[in-house]
Amino acid sequence: MTRATCALIDLAALRHNVAQVRHYAPTQRVMAIIKANGYGHGMVRVAQALLDSGPQGAVDAFGVASVDEAVALRVAGVGCPIVLLEGFHRAQELPLIARYQLEPVIHHPSQIDLLAAYPTPAPLSVWLKVDSGMHRLGVAPAQVAQIWGQLRALGSIGTIRLMTHLACADEPDNDYTHAQLSCFATATADLPAERAIANSAAILGWPQALNESQWVRPGLMLYGISPYAHSVGTAYGLQAVMTFMSELIAVNWVRAGEGIGYGQTWRCPEDMRVGVAAVGYGDGYPRHAAMGTPVLIGGHPAPLIGRVSMDMITVDLRHHPWAEVGEPVILWGEGLPVEHIAQAAGTIPYTLLCGVMERVRRVER
Ligand SMILES: *Cc1c(COP(=O)(O)O)cnc(C)c1O
Repeated sequence: MTRATCALIDLAALRHNVAQVRHYAPTQRVMAIIKANGYGHGMVRVAQALLDSGPQGAVDAFGVASVDEAVALRVAGVGCPIVLLEGFHRAQELPLIARYQLEPVIHHPSQIDLLAAYPTPAPLSVWLKVDSGMHRLGVAPAQVAQIWGQLRALGSIGTIRLMTHLACADEPDNDYTHAQLSCFATATADLPAERAIANSAAILGWPQALNESQWVRPGLMLYGISPYAHSVGTAYGLQAVMTFMSELIAVNWVRAGEGIGYGQTWRCPEDMRVGVAAVGYGDGYPRHAAMGTPVLIGGHPAPLIGRVSMDMITVDLRHHPWAEVGEPVILWGEGLPVEHIAQAAGTIPYTLLCGVMERVRRVER
């Protein structure tokens, strides 16, 4: 018998969420963001499921962080456009980019020199990224026209598309998004190209970002999760794709006054049953989940007690008198939003999903 700890991946929910993206962005093309192993869901499987979801649900491109991720997709037979969101920064990457027909983001003038030194055999499509105020990757607004001209002059570049990234789209009242949108619009006004602006938060909350673009770049919402603090995906018609679960491997009677686990941070207020589930931070369950963070056992919440260990957690079974060894334990997913667990652990859903470790089996359903 193998370890029961697994991440159930609901591919029907994934397809449903793509349909929701299309509902919110009906005229835009969709670049599905599947970096970081498809936000922990299994990148190749996610890509394949999105590609064979039919003419209605299919996506138009994938976005990944690195050449390695892109090559893994090509090797698995993914033929559609793949965008390298961080571009490239070494000459050695260019032969792979050319061979696998990847579409790098151009975000710095130094990349023009690398491209000049390596004229690709076939025209290379690129995405010119403008720093409209996030101040992470992107060329300065005042430089955009010049870099566009330099790219064109290379002769080895095919289609050029434009993009920018919003720093505060998950804050509905933050005016900075307006400032970024107008900065991007002004910097690119004269350039004949398709544009991509919106991540999940902008797709759901900033129609203006959609009006001014032909592409969207959803990540988190594809996986059914809300990009906003204090809300859950179901509020936007989304369905959680991942259910992270394990099972009870021990149920013990512990005496009143005894401490549970490392540091004895929780003491039993009475003689009581304590459950031990086979999941810990070595699986990606957050070490900082606060005491009282719920898990679901038999559909009912049971609170975490004591510290999270590498391979185990301990839970209060006083309200689950029927729960025995082998009982499934849901950590997040169906019936228990990861948004709530993230809040209880002082983090965001992105880190929990990406953090599910390799030793956790991904099981499709
Ligand atoms: C990761 C990423 C996205 C997706 O963001 P979500 O908040 O997950 O929708 C979009 N664009 C860029 C450039 C990214 O790096």
